[in-house]
Amino acid sequence: MLIGCIADDLTGATDLGVTLAREGLSVTQVNGVPDDALEIPAADAVVVALKSRTNPAEEAVAWSRAALHWLQARGAERVYFKYCSTFDSTSRGNIGPVTEALLDALGADFAPATPAYPRNARTVYLGHLFVGDRLLSESGMQNHPLTPMTDANLVRVLGAQTRGSVGLLSSADIEAGVDALRKRAAELRAAGRRHAIVDATRDEHLVIAGEAFLDAALTTGGAGLGMGLARVLAQQGRLARRDPQSLLPKRDGPGVVLSGSCSQATLGQIEAVRRRYPSFQLDPVTLAEGSAHLDAALAWARKQLGATPILIYASAPPESVSKARDALGQQRAAELVEDAFRRIATELAAAGVRRFVVAGGETSGAVVEALGVRALAIGPEIAPGVPWTAAVGGEPFLLALKSGNFGGPDFFTRAFEVLG
Ligand code: ADP
Repeated sequence: MLIGCIADDLTGATDLGVTLAREGLSVTQVNGVPDDALEIPAADAVVVALKSRTNPAEEAVAWSRAALHWLQARGAERVYFKYCSTFDSTSRGNIGPVTEALLDALGADFAPATPAYPRNARTVYLGHLFVGDRLLSESGMQNHPLTPMTDANLVRVLGAQTRGSVGLLSSADIEAGVDALRKRAAELRAAGRRHAIVDATRDEHLVIAGEAFLDAALTTGGAGLGMGLARVLAQQGRLARRDPQSLLPKRDGPGVVLSGSCSQATLGQIEAVRRRYPSFQLDPVTLAEGSAHLDAALAWARKQLGATPILIYASAPPESVSKARDALGQQRAAELVEDAFRRIATELAAAGVRRFVVAGGETSGAVVEALGVRALAIGPEIAPGVPWTAAVGGEPFLLALKSGNFGGPDFFTRAFEVLG
């Protein structure tokens, strides 16, 4: 394994996975701290997706250590800690504490860090993070309910979360080239710095940093520095040869779209296929009345399974969602819908369905859990950030998991086209 990655949330993990796959790496994503017994086939990169961004720091550290242990036992040559490109963290962490715990566990003493990804309008200049043309602290992120980012100076932000001190590798250091950058990093280490924020205002800066820090035990950042490391590994011919088609062997049989996302984008995507695919709408209030609604959905679905994909959706416009929430409470409405999708996924899998497109982050989590899928191999992208994935071990499911706002209006039809 060329890179073992630990991501602090699920969609961030997939974002990194897709980015590495785009550079040619074979990538497997594991959801949650893997048990010791979980074995997966060899891959260039493995991304462990945690949900540790806003948990107490002790919990984030414990999970990250366990993930590290599992990755090391499977031969990870280097470790990458992935967080959000807006450096989402609280004043106590968890970026700093997790980085330091990983450094300690690896017996290392220096971690370069950058959330920059200029391609996605995240740049770092003299240690300050910009979102487009705004400083992080004026980008809207200062009002985030869980991780308000009120300071754009990442040297200061990271320093407030760490025991060790934080230095800066500026864009001038990077533009001086790989050797000069390594030398500058060595100077920072000699001066007692344990961390360094790395500037990047162009994607090439990430590739220079990727080469300079390729042999570091630990690097941390957004998907961007992951890209830099991956590109250098590919350029050096270090990737395992593979046939990309082998990842997604042609799997015939019926396709099913399950949608629990009520985002604008998803509502548009449903509208685009509602009349082309056999469709069934679930209503939380009717679900709450007894089992008849769900039984009807299942009986309907079994009858419709065939060459054309079918669509089962609870997605509804804001007025209907509010009505359901007023009647049942938000939590109960969500539970009813998620439980319904769990049962539908389980029963349709038993009926032979192997291709699922799922819309909604929480909804995807429920379906993946119901299907007993612990690890996913990342396949071709359907839309930016949303790949087809193949379940690793167990039943050979193909899954496209889309969080709410992702994908263009033709996302569902495109998904099945990509499969051929
Ligand atoms: P997204 O990625 O768009 O946020 P999620 O699946 O994460 O989508 O979240 C959508 C939530 O809304 C889920 O908990 C789902 O169960 C719930 N939900 C879906 N349809 C309805 C509905 N008609 N009324 C109320 N809640 C709903």
